[in-house]
Amino acid sequence: MIERKPTKGIQVGTVHIGNHAPVSIQSMITTNPVKVEQSIEEINRLATAGCELVRLAVPDMAAAKAIKDIKERAMIPLIADIHFDYRLALQAIDSGIDGLRINPGNIGSIDNVVKVVEKAKPKLIPIRIGVNAGSLPQHVLDAHGGHPTADGMVETALEHIRILESLEYDQMKVSIKATDVPLMIEAYRKLSSKIPYPLHLGVTEAGTIKQGTIKSSIGIGTLLADGIGDTIRVSLTGDPIHEVEVAKTILSSLELRTFGATMISCPTCGRCQVNLFNMADIVEERLKAIKAPIRVAVMGCVVNGPGEAREADFGIAGGKGQGIIFRKGKVLKTVPEQELVDTLFAEIDQYLLTLEDN
Ligand code: SF4
Repeated sequence: MIERKPTKGIQVGTVHIGNHAPVSIQSMITTNPVKVEQSIEEINRLATAGCELVRLAVPDMAAAKAIKDIKERAMIPLIADIHFDYRLALQAIDSGIDGLRINPGNIGSIDNVVKVVEKAKPKLIPIRIGVNAGSLPQHVLDAHGGHPTADGMVETALEHIRILESLEYDQMKVSIKATDVPLMIEAYRKLSSKIPYPLHLGVTEAGTIKQGTIKSSIGIGTLLADGIGDTIRVSLTGDPIHEVEVAKTILSSLELRTFGATMISCPTCGRCQVNLFNMADIVEERLKAIKAPIRVAVMGCVVNGPGEAREADFGIAGGKGQGIIFRKGKVLKTVPEQELVDTLFAEIDQYLLTLEDN
């Protein structure tokens, strides 16, 4: 069991973050909010896949105003991503936004920060301070050898945090991202020991689906295993649905959360005589509809299959022209190869019905 570091609780719309709330999953739409219908479609598609908070880039006033129409039909809370112009934050609040991502040190004079905080305060709208290794202020770079360091990133985050604290506003969460995984891990670990606020974890510009999944899993996963992190965003170059799927797998792999059925499958070897890759893809797809936390194994052979997958609730193991269906390591029946997947799901369905009856 991972012991999570306690942090101060905040709420973004209906989603609790910190103070031992489940680690929540965030993503970001790729659409400009002025395209209202497209934005709503993308947000609700992400929500259906398991996304719990969604961020929208707000590049101008038209986008900040469009949030109002999006908010009415969005299934999950919205966070406005704003850079430099505090007036966009004010308009986003008027449009009903649930959270802001804006750096208090980057929006001009302190008067601008005061205006945003004054407007956010009555609604307790949280502000995410998002520090990126790639955009540290010059004075911090100068003080840290001219390049981004974990200490420089922490110093920058603390500067922003102190601005909000000086205005007696503590509804905040903080991210301190880098594309360099060891740097990101070091920075989050250092920051975590210094502040009580919840942390939003991410590896920034992690890359394509394959590379980004690996980098994010290592960076985010290492910190979560340390007990650090309250909400996560896996950043991938591709359909953001993948971000949600990867985030769920990171959280379930660390047993921090469960999201319905999970699958284990063997890598195959010279003993395998069925098309296991195809079978595993089909099983994985069909399992997405099952919300019960069952574990299903897809194994290439009967020699080691059921034994290796003893922990699985159900499983199939291939043979020559046929295969077996097993449950908790025990063989239930033998069926022709073509009927393996359907028979597996018939057994699972039957089991789920008995759960409902109980
Ligand atoms: S389950 Fe069978 S086919 Fe799969 S890796 Fe093990 S021995 Fe090889």
